[in-house]
Amino acid sequence: MSDLKSLIRTIPDHPKPGILFRDVTTLFGDAQGFKAVIEQMAARYRGVPVDAVAGIEARGFILGGAIADKLGCGFIPVRKKGKLPWETIGQEYTLEYGTDVIEIHADAVAKDERILIVDDLIATGGTAEAAVKLIRRCEGDVVGASFVIDLPDIGGGKRLDDLGVTWQAVMAFGGH
Ligand code: AMP
Repeated sequence: MSDLKSLIRTIPDHPKPGILFRDVTTLFGDAQGFKAVIEQMAARYRGVPVDAVAGIEARGFILGGAIADKLGCGFIPVRKKGKLPWETIGQEYTLEYGTDVIEIHADAVAKDERILIVDDLIATGGTAEAAVKLIRRCEGDVVGASFVIDLPDIGGGKRLDDLGVTWQAVMAFGGH
């Protein structure tokens, strides 16, 4: 099987100068690579009670749906502002490039439900932190956060550590 890291395409200066965009679509397009990354992300939570995976739009949907299927649990979409059709709660956050708001349906997470957050990449940790806050505002229990890629030089994982959230990434890339 191909080395998973080699399946990530790096696009310099996208979406703006100075950003090295780590493109996971090349990994998703590789049947063995996609299967392997889903298996690794799910393996850590086998035997851990998880009620639902909360996947962050949009690449977190692709990963999160497959991981929820492996774990035999539900899936909650965490979407950009204005996309969900029913009553929502929102949380503002700062991206590596800009600010935004993510939302979940107001009834998506019940009290004490155990939720695993999934996204493709953690950079500043702002998006993941906003997802943690949304789930906790619903009195849900964040059992962990799982990513394909960590950018340790940006250090977003520290924000999750500070929130008391256990997290993992399949691989890391140095630099920004
Ligand atoms: P952050 O909130 O700074 O941790 O940013 C994480 C979110 O932004 C994820 O949903 C990523 O898909 C996206 N993102 C941030 N930086 C990058 C990057 N260098 N390459 C690809 N995606 C990125």
